[in-house]
Amino acid sequence: MKMSDLERHLHRGPPGEGFHRETCKKAAPASPAVAAVSCADPAQPSGWAGPHRRWCRVCKAESWRRPSMENADVAQVLAEVADLLELTGGNAFKARAYRQAAQIVDLLPTPVSELWREGKLTELPSIGERIAAHIEELLNTGRFREHDQLLAKVPPGVLELLKVEGIGPKTASLAWKRLRVKELAALVKACRDGSMEKLPRMGAKRVAAILLALERYQARKGRVPLHRALATAESIAERLRKVPHVRAAEVAGSIRRRRETIGDIDLLVAATGADEVIRAFREAPEVETLTATGPTKCTARLKSGLQADLRIVPPESFGAALHYFTGSKAHNIELRTRAMRRGLKLSEYGVFDRQGKRLGGETEQDVYRAVGLPWIPPELREGAGELEAAEEGRLPRLIEEKDVRGDLHVHSEASSDAHSSLEELCKEAGRLGREYLAITDHSKSRPLGLDAVQMRAHALAIQRFGLQREEAPRLLTGVEVDILQDGTLDLPLDVLQGLDWVVASIHSHFTDPPGKITQRMIAAMRSGVVDVLGHPGGRQLGLRDAYAFDFEKVLEVARAERVALEVNAMPERLDLDDKHCRLAKDAGVALVISTDAHHASQLGNLRYGVWMARRGWLERGDVLNTLGPRQLEARLHRPRHFGTHIELRASL
Ligand SMILES: [Zn+2]
Ligand SMILES: [Zn+2]
Ligand SMILES: [Zn+2]
Repeated sequence: MKMSDLERHLHRGPPGEGFHRETCKKAAPASPAVAAVSCADPAQPSGWAGPHRRWCRVCKAESWRRPSMENADVAQVLAEVADLLELTGGNAFKARAYRQAAQIVDLLPTPVSELWREGKLTELPSIGERIAAHIEELLNTGRFREHDQLLAKVPPGVLELLKVEGIGPKTASLAWKRLRVKELAALVKACRDGSMEKLPRMGAKRVAAILLALERYQARKGRVPLHRALATAESIAERLRKVPHVRAAEVAGSIRRRRETIGDIDLLVAATGADEVIRAFREAPEVETLTATGPTKCTARLKSGLQADLRIVPPESFGAALHYFTGSKAHNIELRTRAMRRGLKLSEYGVFDRQGKRLGGETEQDVYRAVGLPWIPPELREGAGELEAAEEGRLPRLIEEKDVRGDLHVHSEASSDAHSSLEELCKEAGRLGREYLAITDHSKSRPLGLDAVQMRAHALAIQRFGLQREEAPRLLTGVEVDILQDGTLDLPLDVLQGLDWVVASIHSHFTDPPGKITQRMIAAMRSGVVDVLGHPGGRQLGLRDAYAFDFEKVLEVARAERVALEVNAMPERLDLDDKHCRLAKDAGVALVISTDAHHASQLGNLRYGVWMARRGWLERGDVLNTLGPRQLEARLHRPRHFGTHIELRASL
């Protein structure tokens, strides 16, 4: 089993999410399958990745329990069985059946465990008695026998090969069986020494592509997306702030700079003594074990698999140390060079003159002031021109979350992969203070997506619902329409014209050559109905890099056609990234920060997009949805009157 993926699913969402009532002793044991697991039961099925800590909704106690299998987890095991069957030369039809079942489960709008409890598993397409029995075993025990048997036949390193872009079960199986390649390193070697090239249907060109993909895979391995590290880091810092004699505790490093992926966690504490701080750190629930300790610093391995470094400094050095450990390395080097030219010395302990006299270091402002600069926000500290900008008074006034007034990419339960009703979305968006919300469900090329007739009906339903409401947010009718392989849109233009807001996105044929991807985007922007390109780079952190395309050309057309580019705030996407945000801004192209929420709870992800925008030097004026609804209407390229749908007006 690919544990890291499984863990990814288990750790998403706030603590307690997915925790079922019946696992708590104080709640009625509704399901015999899980009733045996009590709030305090530390028992874990053997062979499991490790215990997962959750909070029980009923008794509020922290509890250990076997992980609940979500649809994505079940789907992943089924897909892995398909991979394993193909790797071991098993029955191809059987492999295909597992793969289809995995897709069905993955896209289910309801938890598969619910269907199982109701005895409805076999009513699903592609799921027969046999696979239903496997799913049942999986839900009961977290594993199933056939999967275990197959896993025993294949070295774990061979399964990992499949994570590299462009390596399917056939290639992996050939490399394993003919060249005895059992792990990534061996594959790199086989590619370099020419033995891969001699395999059937291989050739120099494919081997070169595999080598490139291998490099990218290894570069992103070992880093986790920001959201997976952030909550842990903040919760430890919060705990340390409560320790006596602690003046301040901050998360430093790349988390503070809001980089999209994180290598490890850096924590910094200002205190007069270290012992109590280290003890509190060791006892933090997130910490598994301390791997190194010194008088003022220590390193821990966390239960999430990440590493955390803690340093304790005296209060008078806190600012200098915070600056030093926030980085980036490039920024720090530039700043130290600048200090040196002024006859000063900068270190993690403070700012000193030639004679070694201390000039400051209690705050970060001290550090910047010493070299004659204003304080620079951490998101800008990448050695990308921020010192010059600070020097010349050109630092941007970075956008803040409170500047964003509406969300323009939100899925309702009309998308098969989304789960909240209009009511639930509005309630949460209202709570978050959003003034408007564009409901942008998937078009017909996505599984169960909307066709023209359904889209019209859906838009009317959104309108009717919106008209009944008096409080914010105002609802806009919209769509996330697929950009098809030939560059046309997945719904007729007249349907799209009738909507308040059109997001156009690429969801298929990512591997088309760069020129073709560029052409698809350009054609979509020239359709005259598109307001914004959704997740333009197409990357998914840890899974897929952004596709290669001609961004300059896209910017040129976006500007001419007055189409905006999205900063997608999904923590696994964060797309556009910082560099492309900055390029878009410099080219005069408008940006939109959207959550792409598939559940009401994801409307709060906006901050991740705002951070990416800040890393891209964006200011309030660069982002369209900092405008109020009326101002936004006025800025769009075709006339729009939010909230008065053409057909509805006719029918009223
Ligand atoms: Zn979706
Ligand atoms: Zn999308
Ligand atoms: Zn979407």
